[in-house]
Amino acid sequence: MKAVPASVLRSLLIATAFLLFAPLVHAQQPIAPAAADPAVTSALSQVSPDRIHAIIEKLVSFNNRSTLSSMETDLKPGTGINGAADWIEQEFKRISADCGNCLDVSRDEFIEQPQTGPASRILKPTKLTNVYAILRGSDPAQANRMVLVTGHYDTRNTDTLNTHDPAPGANDDASGVAVSLECARVLSKLKPPSSMVFVAVAGEEQGLNGSRHLAQLAKQRGWQLEAVLNNDIVGGDTTPGDTLQDKSAVRVFSEGIPAAATPEQARSLINLGAESDSPSRELARAVAEVASTYFPVQIHRAAQGTPPGRAHSNVVTTTPAFHPVLIFRRDRYLRGGDHTSFNAEGFTAVRITEWRENFDHQHQNVRVENGTQYGDLLQYVDVNYVANVARLNAATLATLAFAPGVPQNVHIDTAALDNNTQLSWTAPTGAPAGTTYEIVWRPTDAPTWTMSQSAGAATSIKLPISKDNVIFAVRSVDSAGHRSIAVLPTPSRPLRTFGQPQQPSQPTTPPRP
Ligand SMILES: [Zn+2]
Repeated sequence: MKAVPASVLRSLLIATAFLLFAPLVHAQQPIAPAAADPAVTSALSQVSPDRIHAIIEKLVSFNNRSTLSSMETDLKPGTGINGAADWIEQEFKRISADCGNCLDVSRDEFIEQPQTGPASRILKPTKLTNVYAILRGSDPAQANRMVLVTGHYDTRNTDTLNTHDPAPGANDDASGVAVSLECARVLSKLKPPSSMVFVAVAGEEQGLNGSRHLAQLAKQRGWQLEAVLNNDIVGGDTTPGDTLQDKSAVRVFSEGIPAAATPEQARSLINLGAESDSPSRELARAVAEVASTYFPVQIHRAAQGTPPGRAHSNVVTTTPAFHPVLIFRRDRYLRGGDHTSFNAEGFTAVRITEWRENFDHQHQNVRVENGTQYGDLLQYVDVNYVANVARLNAATLATLAFAPGVPQNVHIDTAALDNNTQLSWTAPTGAPAGTTYEIVWRPTDAPTWTMSQSAGAATSIKLPISKDNVIFAVRSVDSAGHRSIAVLPTPSRPLRTFGQPQQPSQPTTPPRP
């Protein structure tokens, strides 16, 4: 019998050792989509374009949902914003009854005092009502954590003070309210460990008054809001002849330097090169990763026949999957929205808006002029598009609510100059058994994370990569693969500040809603 050569034995030994220890070795790897959670996939499949149509149609039926209409006494029955608030509250209660009273439904009602100045949009004390429903987390150790989805149910036409003529607001923003209601309906059957809040606010068109009140309420009550998704104008405007609308794309706006940063904090972020790593921007990156899991690119192989001019019959085409386009600014140019109310209170919040707005169908009196139909009418809303936006919201909310909390006290060791990078962090409160941590990084000129490496259950890691050349962050991952938002590390030693303190520059024109 021939002896096994030593070289073969050695190879076998190495292979055995590799198999034994491979699970312990966490290699650097390109960022890849997380595995889909079957419970989330099932919830997304329940999002219904027909229900979205019914919600928007009902909201439009209130004729004019101007916030100011709450104080009018001569409106036709069934019209005005008060009826809309009552209907939304009833919808949340109906959804709750369907899930064994799983939702706490509340009204945040208050009187907004008149604004002063020539462009005032509130002339007398006015009642505002925000309506919201909370799905309490199933894990007492994590139930204080919250993710929130919101849209505004108030509307306007050409005149911000008009309370009587039609202001249908089908796209702006019945579409966003439909997203909140559909998320509540399809997610309320899930039992995530942390809480979800489904919201419809008033006052957006008068100056973000409803969201401001709710954001302040959230702060007073100590809501641990980890993510706020503001859906405003997500109807996928469909106008005959418009060839530039893109139904596969939705914009996600996120602030760079946080609105709530003190001048000192803003200087620190600039010194670190962290202008593009606010918590809100990390949330936008999380939305993009969630999309890559639940909206994979569809590849089609031509079954038969060959398109003219093609040599082969096995033609492969791809349909662009529905996807977020991350816009790295707080909102559209010189404009604002309800997420900025949450940003102002220091919360992590982004705005979600259709690819291309049609301004003939926004803030316009309903009329035909020179053959052009103006007005925010239901006929221009694509409910299939709204359904995709709702699915993206629901997937993001569910992923973050199932994921562990974000790592705490995330630091980068700066004790000595070093071409390696040493990171450390502590576990989030209530981290479930099986929680692991993942380091993500990207070149400084890349928009989203490009590489990752698991640290397993460890709470520190040393990587042979220079912190000078990439941006690092750390996130938590549960045993099922749900990823938290990534957290930018802060230096372990106090930052030296460079140059003179700067005053944040004031915009010359206040943002318009
Ligand atoms: Zn709006």
